[in-house]
Amino acid sequence: MPNHAKGTRSEVSWDPNSIRDDFPILARTVHRERPLVFFDNAASTQHPVAVLDAMDACYRRHYANVHRGVHRLSQEASDAYDAARARVASFVGAERVDEIVFVAGTTMAINLVARSMGESGIGAGDEILLTEMEHHSNIVPWQQLAARCGARVRFLPIRDDGTLALERLGEFLSPRTRIVAFTAVSNVVGTINPVTELVARAKQVGATVLVDAAQHVPHDRTDVRAWGADFVVFSGHKMLGPTGIGVLWGRYDRLESLPPFLGGGSMITEVTTSGFVPNLPPAKFEAGTPPIVEAVGLHAAIDYLESIGLERIARHEAELTSRAIDAMSAIDGVRILGPKAEQRAGIVSFVVDGVSSQDLCVFLDLKGFALRNGHHCAMPLHERLGVPSSCRASFYLYNTLAEIDRFATTLRSEIDRLR
Ligand code: PLP
Repeated sequence: MPNHAKGTRSEVSWDPNSIRDDFPILARTVHRERPLVFFDNAASTQHPVAVLDAMDACYRRHYANVHRGVHRLSQEASDAYDAARARVASFVGAERVDEIVFVAGTTMAINLVARSMGESGIGAGDEILLTEMEHHSNIVPWQQLAARCGARVRFLPIRDDGTLALERLGEFLSPRTRIVAFTAVSNVVGTINPVTELVARAKQVGATVLVDAAQHVPHDRTDVRAWGADFVVFSGHKMLGPTGIGVLWGRYDRLESLPPFLGGGSMITEVTTSGFVPNLPPAKFEAGTPPIVEAVGLHAAIDYLESIGLERIARHEAELTSRAIDAMSAIDGVRILGPKAEQRAGIVSFVVDGVSSQDLCVFLDLKGFALRNGHHCAMPLHERLGVPSSCRASFYLYNTLAEIDRFATTLRSEIDRLR
């Protein structure tokens, strides 16, 4: 049994040092032998050997195109691809395996739904409700849709503490609201949104609901059926898996009635010179050669996450986050964006009086700390918070309390130096 799998799920704390050796990249150093502290997990996460090995074995032994050949390798690759879909389905609580559509990532999934919904009846005067804390990939596809069909995009405001102004929801929901799309967890302020409540309110006015779960699925247990939305989307590379694969979960009847977005191989049952008959979901939305080896990698990533337990990962990240917020708030001039630790996931964005976020992240990098600076693909949110950019530290299962403590000490000294 691997070290990390020992013990029970009810353990209050858990030692991430027991898994760090599973991630070869964490052993490397940067800038004159500084140990790497990787705090850029909201952008993309690192890979355990189990994921690298699974993908390597697929390329070395089982690789061929899928669902296209009777030969042995094609069958092995097809079996692996289908098994990955089944694994994702059980991981997020889907009712049916064919509710899982493999796409390139969250961005692709949202574009797919926005494009397809645009062809199925949204029109002038209709409204699309988003929130002020969305990632650009959950804003721009809807703005594009609105521009095509004359609909209006509205934004549910946030409060000053980075939580959604739920008390104002009634002003924004009406029978004109055709689509409500929102993030389960903000990729900047880390706010954990009340998904079930928001979905239920949107459903009262008959809206279609899409949940951007890019920052939720990797970090906490996700049950798409309990959420009650129509679509839930997320990316493999933010949950220990490879780039190039993501997931669109859709309720089967919604996927059935949605027109296909991309045309090509696999998404049809018949093509003639006068037209085509679309395939059933999920094939209907998977035109062309799919991300085969990436699906195998995602399968291995889910197995790895489950061997630890999403509950345990969530608890560990909560501990890291509250330690980070406590230590950082004690540093003069640091303003942490977003709510108190209990209301947020493992993401802490901040600004420092008189110091540019770019300069600070460059200097932190020289000490070995990988953070992101900029607007984190959320310009409207930064505008609302009154800052052009921020530094973001985001944590995952392999980060340690000792790393947080070292970070706080280094942050303090770098701020002193830059001032
Ligand atoms: N939505 C959220 C909340 C995100 O954090 C991200 C990535 O940072 C995305 C969407 C886009 O994901 P991807 O770049 O994998 O398509």
